Amino acid sequence: MKVMKFGGTSVGKPERMKEVAQLITKDNDRKIVVLSALSGTTNALVEISNHLANGDRSSAKQVIEKLHDHYQNFIQELLVTDVARNQAKGIINEHFEFLHIILRISFSEALNKDILAQGELMSTKLFSAFLEENNIDHVLLPALEFMTIDANEEPQLGSIKIKLAQLLKKHSDKNILITQGYICKNARGEVDNLKRGGSDYTASLIAAASKSAVCEIWTDIDGMHNNDPRIVNKTVAIEQLSFDEAAELAYFGAKILHPTCIWPAQQENVPVKLLNTMQPEAAGTVITKEAGSVGVKAVAAKDGIIAIKIKSSRMLLAYGFLRKVFEVFEKYKTSIDMITTSEVAVSVTIDTDQFLPQIVKELEPFGTVDIEKEQTIVSIVGNEIAKTDYVLQKLFESLKEIPITMVSYGGSTHNITLLVPSSHKIKTLQLLNSGLFGL
Ligand code: ASP
Ligand code: MG
Repeated sequence: MKVMKFGGTSVGKPERMKEVAQLITKDNDRKIVVLSALSGTTNALVEISNHLANGDRSSAKQVIEKLHDHYQNFIQELLVTDVARNQAKGIINEHFEFLHIILRISFSEALNKDILAQGELMSTKLFSAFLEENNIDHVLLPALEFMTIDANEEPQLGSIKIKLAQLLKKHSDKNILITQGYICKNARGEVDNLKRGGSDYTASLIAAASKSAVCEIWTDIDGMHNNDPRIVNKTVAIEQLSFDEAAELAYFGAKILHPTCIWPAQQENVPVKLLNTMQPEAAGTVITKEAGSVGVKAVAAKDGIIAIKIKSSRMLLAYGFLRKVFEVFEKYKTSIDMITTSEVAVSVTIDTDQFLPQIVKELEPFGTVDIEKEQTIVSIVGNEIAKTDYVLQKLFESLKEIPITMVSYGGSTHNITLLVPSSHKIKTLQLLNSGLFGL
């Protein structure tokens, strides 16, 4: 068994969707194919929801109609026979009828989730129609029948395993099983989702639940790169990463993979491959348990970081001080990304200012609190970094002109994390590209 996940751009145009059909029929392996919504659809659905939440039905209606046109044209290009086209249009019309009905009922959070689910429901049905027209044997597995999250919005891997196994058994005569990314049922039994970009998460959960041989994530770039291609001139695809390295990169800014999507695959030790639909033969990036080679593999950056420094002479020789500080963050459900301490001060970073005033107010009794906003975390990720020749020396030498705010190293052997003012991010990434990678 293997899992193949295709993102919005991979199914966003009729010709791309046809390429996906080719990719999944290249071999006879049994596979679960996870699809995102057509590119732009989820954004449009969010827009519809927002208009409805603001009571602006006429704007919502406009977006619905525009989206409907898009799907009509898509079907026209995707399918050939009138029978298939009419059937597909009938299916899509049902979803748009639903969207028109919601224009008339009162908006709620549950309804919002129903609206957001329409994209993946439609993309999988269209793809199924295409396979059917081309006599490609397959079955549609409704994600809402097996993908569930608990009251804390955490996926229930145990029950997903059981339900998925039942479905796979029921369809044991099928080699190609198609399902929706992103959507799920919540603890109240309502339609919900795994948050934006969550189709990768679906794929990894399914790969873990079915103990697949591999979880392939197909996008339109050739794997994870060593640096941000939008910022530096030359980047290269990384051949191999460990789960920990990949999670670190995804969390700290590499856009290609959803940060939460590593742990399910890691738990069941299923290798994750990042592959390119435009260049299917390219090796892409393989993510496995083993770290593979030693050395620095990539850098990634995450903006919108706030640094908080708490300085207190009472911290000197005191125990329990850090616990009190951390309790404040816990109280406001705000997670800390970076920490550095000295004997009289502790600095932490957070990535949201939602509760910043409350947090600062509660920290003030401990000492002087300083805030630095508009910071960027630059994470340098690799394997056994310290054992690599001169890496720390090269790192700081290349960043001589950057006013680094914080440095964190030693938490693990696979990363060094720096905090820099966001205004210096571009320069930092460029200098590291030449300093560490010689690019
Ligand atoms: N369609 C959803 C989104 O755009 C989920 C995904 O594509 O991963 O966020
Ligand atoms: Mg995505």
